[in-house]
Amino acid sequence: MQQYRNTATATPRYDAVIVGAGFGGMGAAIQLKRLGLDDFVILEREGDLGGTWHVNRYPGLAVDIASFTYSYSFEPNPYWSRVFAPGAELKRYAGHVAHKYGLRRHMRFSTVVEGARWDEAGQYWTVHVRGGETITARYLLTATGFLSQPRTPDIDGIETFRGMIVHSADWDDSCELAGRRVAVIGTGATAVQLIPEVAREAAELTVYQRTPIWVTPKLDWRIPRPVQRLFARVPVTQRAARMVNSAVLEAIMVVGVLHYRQARFTNKGAELLARAHLRRQVKDPEVRRRLTPDYSFGCKRPTFSNEYLRTFNLPHVRLETTPIARVEPDGIVTADGRRTAIDVLLLATGFDLWDVNFPAFQITGRDGRDLGSWWRTTRFQAYQGVTMPGFPNLISLNSPYSYSGLSYFTTIESQMRHMKRLFGELRRRRATTFEVTRRANDEFLDRVTARLADSVFVLGACASARSYYFNQHGEPALLRPTPTLATLREAGRFPLDAYTYA
Ligand code: NAP
Repeated sequence: MQQYRNTATATPRYDAVIVGAGFGGMGAAIQLKRLGLDDFVILEREGDLGGTWHVNRYPGLAVDIASFTYSYSFEPNPYWSRVFAPGAELKRYAGHVAHKYGLRRHMRFSTVVEGARWDEAGQYWTVHVRGGETITARYLLTATGFLSQPRTPDIDGIETFRGMIVHSADWDDSCELAGRRVAVIGTGATAVQLIPEVAREAAELTVYQRTPIWVTPKLDWRIPRPVQRLFARVPVTQRAARMVNSAVLEAIMVVGVLHYRQARFTNKGAELLARAHLRRQVKDPEVRRRLTPDYSFGCKRPTFSNEYLRTFNLPHVRLETTPIARVEPDGIVTADGRRTAIDVLLLATGFDLWDVNFPAFQITGRDGRDLGSWWRTTRFQAYQGVTMPGFPNLISLNSPYSYSGLSYFTTIESQMRHMKRLFGELRRRRATTFEVTRRANDEFLDRVTARLADSVFVLGACASARSYYFNQHGEPALLRPTPTLATLREAGRFPLDAYTYA
């Protein structure tokens, strides 16, 4: 860390601690290396790298943003086997990136971070690891993911179930589905991928739906070898595919959602497409009616599938929309008293975001400020979705208003740009400590709040969506309401006086 002058009274062990070895943590690590901050450790609670793509292994797992777009722009993979690559390829890609950028040697697996505290005298972070170890570092970067704390539903009697219960994010390969009576609870993006696979094996499948989901067709196909070779030899061809796909996604997922006031027609167009898809795929009008969402497209993350809806035509698959009353040792009872006998219970019930994941562990900043309490007693907020006042030298990658709607990689790469500008200024000033000003943070919060007034979250019908885009106060505080290009531009040009430096 030669270029950075050390003004503090004590020397921490590392330049930086990164928490999380998924794509976010790896992107941050690549950027630290580029910035000459090479002495860092990546702490990961799981047994290997890859984050979501290491943890999730359920049948049917695939990326649901086309792989040209769902990858680092500076590290394209010409060899995706499909437009929407299966999960195992994402995991291999993560391994490739770690190898190419020399990240594995920085990683420590099965290491659970329990807390971090800012040391004012030393101007560094002390990170507490389960088991009692403490690690000190000048900078703390949290990349703990948005969807990393699986939610087990609090359904009466669930603990009495005698068959196998498996959460999609904790898939058990010994889970035998062939010839069994299976129930799936949940109809989110995970269930949309899982249910067709389960239906292929199970003797009976009952799907418990609380809220239907908008599903649009998935333009997926195998990428033939000659095209893969073309992508490898002439990278501009893959960049062009990325641009086209990103532009379509931007129109639907960013413009139509965040700029609903101005571009409602793109949102409505997507809804019409999803309705037509449902009509084409599901024969029974009553089942169709129950699969039709009553909230605006975009209130909740829409999904893409050519298999999910038509699964409900199969004679051994039943859609159950009566609420679950309780689970019994060998079945599920709905509120109308009907009982369905099951052998296997699959939970596609998603993740806890707002209650347990912001932040994923206790973070105590300047003057004892607790990040979780501060977010909950003021508002969920983060300057540019990256930094918070009162938390010097903390880069929080999974923050409120950080998710740039196109693909997680847009979010990561804009945050890498932000780091480049911020750490570049630190170096120029020969400083080691940064902190965002309250003024810059407040202005950013005011700006995103004002811009959200144009979004489907405010203007659409979202009350019944039960969407994790909204926090416990009903604020849509996850997505950053700016177009992707503007997000990227701002990450490279934010005013340097948004921070104080010491
Ligand atoms: P999710 O979207 O939060 O869906 C959870 C489902 O479980 C919902 O249908 C929910 O119903 C239901 N549920 C939860 N608790 C319940 C209860 N107590 N009783 C009945 N139903 C209950 O979670 P997810 O499907 O795991 O997807 C999360 C996100 O992961 C997606 O939005 C997407 O961003 C990401 N994902 C990405 C990919 C990919 O390929 N990139 C694949 C899968 C997932 P309610 O809606 O009524 O709450």
